[in-house]
Parts: sequence; C-alpha cells; structure tokens
Amino acid sequence: MNLSIPERSEYLKILSDSDQKIMGVLPALYPRELLWAFDLHAAEIWDPPGDILHANAHLQTTICPVVKKSLEFILKEPDVINTGYLFPHTCDSLQNLGTQVKDLIGVSLPVYTFYNPKGSFNNTTTKYYREILQNFQSMLEVSYGTLDSEKLQAACLLGHRIDSRLMDIQEARQTDRLLLGNQEYFQLMRAQEYLLPKDYMSLLEQVEILDQPSEGAKARILVSGILPPSPQILDFLDKLGVSIVADDLLAGSRRLPKFPMDPPDSPLDYLTDRFFILPPCSTRGGDLDERLHQLNKRSKSSKAQGVLFDLVKFCEPELFDHRLLVKTLREQKIPVLTLETELDSHLSGQDKTRIEAFIELLFEMVPR
Ligand code: SF4
Repeated sequence: MNLSIPERSEYLKILSDSDQKIMGVLPALYPRELLWAFDLHAAEIWDPPGDILHANAHLQTTICPVVKKSLEFILKEPDVINTGYLFPHTCDSLQNLGTQVKDLIGVSLPVYTFYNPKGSFNNTTTKYYREILQNFQSMLEVSYGTLDSEKLQAACLLGHRIDSRLMDIQEARQTDRLLLGNQEYFQLMRAQEYLLPKDYMSLLEQVEILDQPSEGAKARILVSGILPPSPQILDFLDKLGVSIVADDLLAGSRRLPKFPMDPPDSPLDYLTDRFFILPPCSTRGGDLDERLHQLNKRSKSSKAQGVLFDLVKFCEPELFDHRLLVKTLREQKIPVLTLETELDSHLSGQDKTRIEAFIELLFEMVPR
C-alpha cells in the first residue's frame, strides 16, 4: 500500500506561510484537544534532524539526544514555530530544559509548561489533573481569548475519532490485516506529530484494513522504547521479513487509551479520563508489574515471538524499568534484544549482526 504522507518540514512551512498558529510541543503527553480548540496547531518536537552544534554548550554530556536535538532546533528559532513552546513534564531532563529555555537561554516566543501528574488514578491525581487543565486553559485565554466551549467539544470528538481509528489500525496490525511494511506503518504513526488533526484523520481513513489476515511475516516482534527504531533498522527488518506487530513506545501506543472510550460528553471529564486510561509508562512513574502485564498482554494478542528494546541513550525513565523488564521476560523464555540509539541515521555493523542473530533465533521458534 502506498500512502501519501506529507513530508514534515514542507507541510509545516506551508501551514505557517498560511498564517496557521503553530506551537512547538516537546514530548510527550499534553491536552492536544485544548490547543486545537484555540486553533493552535501542535507541531511535536522529538528528534529534529541536523547536527548538534550549539546545544551542547548548554547541557551536560549525559543528557539524552531527544533533549539535545530539541534544544538545537529551538536555538535556531525556526520560523514554522510562531506562537510558543510547550514543555510537558515527561522527565526531569525535559523539565530542566523547559526552565532553561524560559529563564536562562530565552527565546522570543512564550514558553508554557504542563506538569502531568505521576502515579495512578485516584481522587488526588484526578483532582490535580483537572486543575492543571483549567490552569492551562486560563493561560491560553490570556493570549487567545475566552475558550469557545463548542470548539473544545468538537476537538474532543475529533480526538476520539482519531483514537478509535488508531485502535482499529493497531488491532489490524496485530492480526496481519494491514498491508504496510514496518517503515510505512511507523511513518503513518508519526504523522500525527505534525499533521493537522483533520488531515491526520483523512490519512487514517485511507488505510485499508483487510477482512482476512494476509500471509504472516517470517518473524514477529514487539518493540519497546521512546521512539520507533530508525528508518534504517525498520528497512533492515523489512528486508529480513520481520514484522513489528505491536509496540510499547512512548511516541506510539503509550499515548493511546488502553480500551475504547465512549464519545465525549463533558470535555473536562473526557480529557481527564483519557489521561488515566493510557497504558503504563516509565515517564509516569507507574507500577512496573502493570507494565509487565501490559507487555505480556500485547505480546500474546499480537503473537510476538520476541521483544526489541530500542533505548534512547541516557534516557533515565526507560533505563530505570529496563533491567527488571528484561530479567522477567527472559525468565518467561521470551527472547529479548536491547539496542541503544543516539537518534542518528546510522546502523552500525555490530547492531546489524546482533539483529540478525536475534531474528535467526525467532525464525527457529514456533509462533506463540
Ligand atoms: S528520551 Fe527519556 S530522558 Fe530523554 S526526553 Fe525522552 S523521556 Fe526524557
């Protein structure tokens, strides 16, 4: 299947030339519907391309490349970001970066923060989440006028449609009813980082979901980490006949509710409920047993034979969970491979060999 997915920088340039208000949003969880209701487009910044030249002067050497690349991008004061930056509280590194950009480095645009609660659903965390949503709304109202409640309702309905379609696509992926290779599948997933929601919805509607499973791949894996593996790794896996049938990625399924929600009735309730039914994630300080349970469940439903951890170098939240996840999966006799990425476009010979050896092992296994 050949999907026509617009290229990120060209698409954003066309939008900004047409006077669309665009906010640069750092990873990972934020109330996108609230931005949409103010006619603000969220352009997410995870791993912008280009060498790191100036950011290093502001950061410790042991900071992850997501933060380094994002700062390099921000320092260039790109034209496409024309209304400000939003820093959700994903991890300490991003929180510090937000403070630095706002108070020390200084950029000409406003800098907003959104302090997501850590921990699970309870009266205190839900009350807190509702409060920060309302505070964020008030902050935006200072610049963009009183929120139109009908627009917020419409934005939540659109967000709900996108979630529902993504869940269908994810389910089709797990059951071999999608004619997309690894590269194309993750291009589709990542297009939500920069397409207008209505354009993203149209793109999702073009995806063909088969009634019956197609011929399965030679091996099936689940990938876990922050971002999907690099295009080079995805291409290599495509060539080896390996399908990534499920994911546990922060930029992927960890941002999609665990189960379908009812269409929104009250936007505030809907946004709050949605946040607390996201899958467990290292960046929200969730229970590790719950994360293991979710990984197992997803591996079983997708018949994944092994797990590939693609860890961003120096990512503390992920490293914290990783050791115990690997230990437990190995005890369950599930093959595991861990790679470390600096988000460059190079696939080393050593990584190629390790991937090949891992896949050989999966080829010899009977699918679960
Ligand atoms: S890669 Fe990890 S440490 Fe870096 S910004 Fe993301 S969550 Fe934070």
